[in-house]
Amino acid sequence: MIVDLRSDTVTKPTPGMLEAMWSAKVGDDVFGEDETVNELEEKAAAMFGMEAGIFCPSGTMTNQIAIKCFTQPLDELVTDQTAHVYRYEGGGIAFNSGVSTRLLIGDRGRITAEMIAPEINADNIHYPHTSLVVLENTVNKGGGSCYTLEDIKPIAALCHNEKLKLHLDGARIFNALAYTGDKAIDYGKYFDGISVCLSKGLGAPVGSVLLADKETIRYARRIRKVLGGGMRQAGFLAAAGIYALDHHIERLAIDHAHAQLLADELGKCNWVSNVLPADTNIVLFDTVVPAEQVLKKLLGKGVKASSTDTHRIRFVTHLDVHPQQAEWVVKVLAEI
Ligand SMILES: *Cc1c(COP(=O)(O)O)cnc(C)c1O
Repeated sequence: MIVDLRSDTVTKPTPGMLEAMWSAKVGDDVFGEDETVNELEEKAAAMFGMEAGIFCPSGTMTNQIAIKCFTQPLDELVTDQTAHVYRYEGGGIAFNSGVSTRLLIGDRGRITAEMIAPEINADNIHYPHTSLVVLENTVNKGGGSCYTLEDIKPIAALCHNEKLKLHLDGARIFNALAYTGDKAIDYGKYFDGISVCLSKGLGAPVGSVLLADKETIRYARRIRKVLGGGMRQAGFLAAAGIYALDHHIERLAIDHAHAQLLADELGKCNWVSNVLPADTNIVLFDTVVPAEQVLKKLLGKGVKASSTDTHRIRFVTHLDVHPQQAEWVVKVLAEI
């Protein structure tokens, strides 16, 4: 048995999803003529109470487009030091938007209005102009930690008062909603932009959607084109996204239960020195021996995982980790 816990991006389309893709009605989306892409964009926007959406090949692209839409060169954005937009998007903030980044040290990646306020630059030619705040929910490097909508409200109010845009990197927003019990429809009024990933926990093979108001999305289409992200008969991919939104949100609770199961077992292992709270589908834990050594043993038992530091390992649960597989990993952990 092989269990792949490296990432929630490793999932393969289910038979139902493949069926939906196979039978999608498509057209040339650069001409705006792919009705399945249009349906996905409208559906996702409606779910979050936003006006419009744009389907992109990746979450990196939706985030980078949002940053470009919400800033001017010489501006500065504020985010947590673990943020995906800063750490894992190849330096795109500087490259694509000519914008600098002010990094805060949050609680497992979560920042607050109190932390942001003093970092907003005064209007002075020495300082870059602060124009954007980026939040991530769940926080990848925080081990799937979540903001509740109550946490977000004061940040949105600060951004509104200070005339800053607020973008949400919601690569795992549905995991956050499953954990907090907040509703997607309530998110729209607090954010100027929301990135929603379809190929992480939701299990689609490709794609993310950027949600915003109509005017922003019109400009976003220009930016997507210049980045080379204008796709033609993309409806085959959008169909997978629609299927995922219809069928793979409810089941995220299973992934969270599996993560908790693994975290509980890790808590009993003498070769583990610390397990972070497994709130959603990511388990981060520290090992007494080098992580590489543990990964090798796990691989010998068919369990694939990755390290995020010399003594830290990450497990991510997802659609393709079945209950028997989660039980198998528990057994393997107990035997190491
Ligand atoms: C995966 C991820 C993204 C986008 O990743 P792509 O691989 O470009 O789709 C963005 N933000 C977070 C927090 C992520 O985990």
